[in-house]
Amino acid sequence: MRLKKGGFEAYLVGGCVRDLLLGREPKDFDVATNASPEQVKQIFRNCRIIGRRFRLAHVFFGKEIIEVATFRGSEAENSEQQMVHEDGRLLRDNVFGTLEQDVWRRDFTVNALYYNIRDFSVVDYTGGMQDHSASTLRLIGDPAVRYREDPVRMLRAIRFAAKLSFTLHPDTEKPIHELNSLLKGIPSARLYDEVLKLFLAGYGVQTFELLRHYGLFGILFPATEHCLQTLDHDFPRLFLIRALENSDKRFADGKTLTPYFLLAAILWEPLQQTAQKHIAHGENETMAYQNAANEILSRQIKIIAMPRHITQAMRDVWFMQSKFSRTIGLRPYRLLEQPKFRAAFDFLQLRAEVGGADPALIQWWTEFQEADEAQRKKMTAPAKGGKSDKPRRKSNRYRSRSKSDSPK
Ligand code: ATP
Ligand code: MG
Repeated sequence: MRLKKGGFEAYLVGGCVRDLLLGREPKDFDVATNASPEQVKQIFRNCRIIGRRFRLAHVFFGKEIIEVATFRGSEAENSEQQMVHEDGRLLRDNVFGTLEQDVWRRDFTVNALYYNIRDFSVVDYTGGMQDHSASTLRLIGDPAVRYREDPVRMLRAIRFAAKLSFTLHPDTEKPIHELNSLLKGIPSARLYDEVLKLFLAGYGVQTFELLRHYGLFGILFPATEHCLQTLDHDFPRLFLIRALENSDKRFADGKTLTPYFLLAAILWEPLQQTAQKHIAHGENETMAYQNAANEILSRQIKIIAMPRHITQAMRDVWFMQSKFSRTIGLRPYRLLEQPKFRAAFDFLQLRAEVGGADPALIQWWTEFQEADEAQRKKMTAPAKGGKSDKPRRKSNRYRSRSKSDSPK
């Protein structure tokens, strides 16, 4: 490591040490050093300094990014380099320090293990090794204070518990029930990143159950939580679990996971309920779903800043659902050409699996996709003597573009 040659200390730290100790392949590598970001930049040409809250250096090795963080100090009251919000939240923390000081600002003991590349030893000030072998997640310091400093640590606790099958230490677990609402103060862009990490890491089902257990899910997705609590049948939960199982399985098979698909699934039930209300007020189905989508999404992006291309893809998947029942004439061909057809069809399949859509439709569309031209013609021909499915005018093809989607 070049930092060593430059006369600096360098340790691997965080998730990579934790995951390596479990025999898992780390997602990424974090390095802690006593070189300042500027010094790191002098040593590595392929380096960029990022971050405001925490200044870091990103060093690029081909496709890999290694995050190099300078040791943080702790005794920095009154310092301009550290800013604390009145509710205890740390807004900026750029006071540099030594390894001994750096340890204490990390979140969990198992994330505060420093692997010394010089002699392959592990530096452990917090009992992280012991917690690691007991599969325990324990916050360093006073848990309530640490959650107040950064409420996202509650989400990180859940994420690691689900991913590593670790148990939260009772002291780490207890304050979450009381402090969960502090998440409301976190900027929506950061919550979007965290939500993706929570649900796209291959442990979605466990994560979902844990988030609900600790009252965190309802803060991230209040409309969905409301549906889950107020409906007397278990359908919405079943559908969501099914969608999460499906994406966890895709992850295990090495397939890609798309954020919009999962977000569309999470918000599907609120969308349905809201659309039904509009229909009860006399709107046609198309309008009702468009208006419902506007309402649901504009409320949701205030909490979680889903980018515009994501909400548009969610709308595509949602609005295509009702079109699968039109199997006569040219419409099935047009639907098949839609860029989000595959995702929308997968979505329909999940719905059918839990009783939310007609399995005969899945059958029909599976055959239609595999059929040759002659067979397709036969399949889409109007039934003799039966009602014909009137071809719809082009102008009826909707694609809502509401301004309300752009996060503020
Ligand atoms: P992952 O496997 O998701 O990369 P990780 O533990 O490496 O897990 P990162 O977000 O990459 O998580 O952070 C690297 C390290 O930085 C953590 O292990 C932890 O020591 C420290 N850290 C990150 N976020 C926080 C936080 N919000 N509060 C305190 N320490 C943090
Ligand atoms: Mg990491």
